[in-house]
Amino acid sequence: MNSCVILAGGSGKRMRGAVKDKVLVPLLGVPVILHSFNAFLKSGEVGRIVFVCRDAEQREEIERELKNRFPNSNVEIMFAKGGKERGDSVLNGLKKARGKSVDIVFIHDGARPFVGSENIKRLARCAEKSGGAVLASRVTDTIKRAPKNMKSACKLVDLERKRLWAMQTPQVFDSEKIFDAYKRASESKLSFTDDVAVFASVGGKTEIVENFSPNPKITAPEDIALAEFMASRGLLEPV
Ligand code: C5P
Repeated sequence: MNSCVILAGGSGKRMRGAVKDKVLVPLLGVPVILHSFNAFLKSGEVGRIVFVCRDAEQREEIERELKNRFPNSNVEIMFAKGGKERGDSVLNGLKKARGKSVDIVFIHDGARPFVGSENIKRLARCAEKSGGAVLASRVTDTIKRAPKNMKSACKLVDLERKRLWAMQTPQVFDSEKIFDAYKRASESKLSFTDDVAVFASVGGKTEIVENFSPNPKITAPEDIALAEFMASRGLLEPV
């Protein structure tokens, strides 16, 4: 069996108060986070889904929506508490998502509703083979690295664009190895930018699965308008 952690434990500070809770904003009448749930359900790849929630109010709202819209889903649904940093929330989610019979675990930002069930299937096949897989897109901008102590004018380092990838979620890994990696990261108080980096810290290798369709993370108020437009253009799977 495979399982999945869907994260909703963030404070949403970068929304600057534009909405109360970005993962509960409706897209085509359905809360953002349930579009991710729908994609995982449709993929048929997971038997357990753990929602990592910010607080009791959010959890109750998600529970209510799940009951209304997916009364007959046959996946096991669990809830975990969000932590201070994203990594703390992932670890809390992994504690519930793992188990003797769990092979691979997906980690997904609840704020990315456009993930798509086909991508989830492709990721599962790669992670089963390689131990780790991540959804990513090619970078189209030219990216340069600035020095640590940036002055007004400084030498910018060129990076070879065709080797650069923008990491998205889901990121999916061997269940025990990613749990071990997160436990160690937490004990050593090291901070990482994403799950792939945590996995790499214990020697894990990750295969890139190229995503050819947009999968933005709703972060700032303007992302909601973008998501609504994308939804109106049929980029969400029907619930
Ligand atoms: O902050 P950011 O947008 O990068 O967060 C990505 C995802 O991780 C969001 O779905 C957010 O709710 C979640 N998160 C979390 N716990 C935190 C911080 C972020 O579950 N402490």
